[in-house]
Amino acid sequence: MNAVNESSRLELEDLRREVGHAGGWAPGPTVVFVAGLHGNEPAGVIALRRVFRDLEKRQIAVRGEVVGLAGHLEALARNQRYLERDLNRVWSRRRVEEVESGQAPDGPETREQTDLLVRIRRAIEHARGEVNVIDLHTASADTPPFVILGDTLRNREFGRGFPMPVVLGLEEHILGTLMEWVTGLGHLGLAIEAGRHEDPRSVDRHEAAIWISLVLSNAVSSSDVPDFAGHLHRLERASSEIPSLVEVFHRHAIDSGETFVMRPGFKNFDRVRAGAPLATHDGREVTAERDARIFLPLYQKQGQEGYFLARPVDPVWLAVSAFVRRLGLPRIVHWLPGVARHPELRNALVVNTRIARFFAPKLFHLLGYRLESLEGRKLTVRERDRGPAV
Ligand SMILES: [Zn+2]
Repeated sequence: MNAVNESSRLELEDLRREVGHAGGWAPGPTVVFVAGLHGNEPAGVIALRRVFRDLEKRQIAVRGEVVGLAGHLEALARNQRYLERDLNRVWSRRRVEEVESGQAPDGPETREQTDLLVRIRRAIEHARGEVNVIDLHTASADTPPFVILGDTLRNREFGRGFPMPVVLGLEEHILGTLMEWVTGLGHLGLAIEAGRHEDPRSVDRHEAAIWISLVLSNAVSSSDVPDFAGHLHRLERASSEIPSLVEVFHRHAIDSGETFVMRPGFKNFDRVRAGAPLATHDGREVTAERDARIFLPLYQKQGQEGYFLARPVDPVWLAVSAFVRRLGLPRIVHWLPGVARHPELRNALVVNTRIARFFAPKLFHLLGYRLESLEGRKLTVRERDRGPAV
């Protein structure tokens, strides 16, 4: 165990679910931070402790309510990603229903999720303004800090306020994240990746991201934050080499029991050329299918994704897509050939990819739809900005 791990172990002693709580009197937003949904990612928890300590010590005025929650208490105590199943893959609507009605099979993750759900629901119920949920993570590879979000206009506007890159499209490749569930409820939900698990800078960057989240939420005034400019500068400097907007387009999945070994030396967002060897999977070499940026290469034992591939997106695209969404074009897209309203799901469309192959899926991203499933030629897409498709 190295020095960083040792000191973070000390800082995690007496850890409870509620890491901190502030405000509750003056009207304003409700901001919920979750840290350590993965037990080997204590940086966010330590950063939350620092911020709540400062809020109290400096008597900083808080509008609305700020809640800090530790994610996986048992896994944090063991410095392990999870015990039986990944606690950031269990937030599908169906699974949440099972957990809340007591139908989910008992296990360590079910117990953690049950408690988290009670607390997040309570915070939402008490909210008198907007609800913003920020999920704090670190990665197994070296990485500059960045923001992950589901592409609703509200998430996007908020996410662009951070001086670090925004990553789109991950939620189409990873199902059941907390962020996705929160966004589906119609609230703001995003995740922050601060750096490598053991890197002490990850704690500083999470601290910066927490303060910036509080200011962007209008819960705290920037002039009250100790060294706010320094926090902005820290994130900006750490991620200046990375395009400001990146889209994930490929996921390399690992099934249980398979052996996956990433080639050493990849940093997050590194450029890879088509055909470049990336990893060995069950003894076979895996190469990049096209020129791309490597995203979240796996350098730890637990995980269902070996790596992702991503590509930069032109920021002009953001302006264009915001424009067409505000015009209401998503509402008439079913007039296009090969596109029909979904027979059961609200806000969803079924696309015949044989007919609509020239414009799907880029057009649907532009219009604010996420890809839900592809069966044969039947592609289902759902609009993000109109709440859950009940
Ligand atoms: Zn994580």
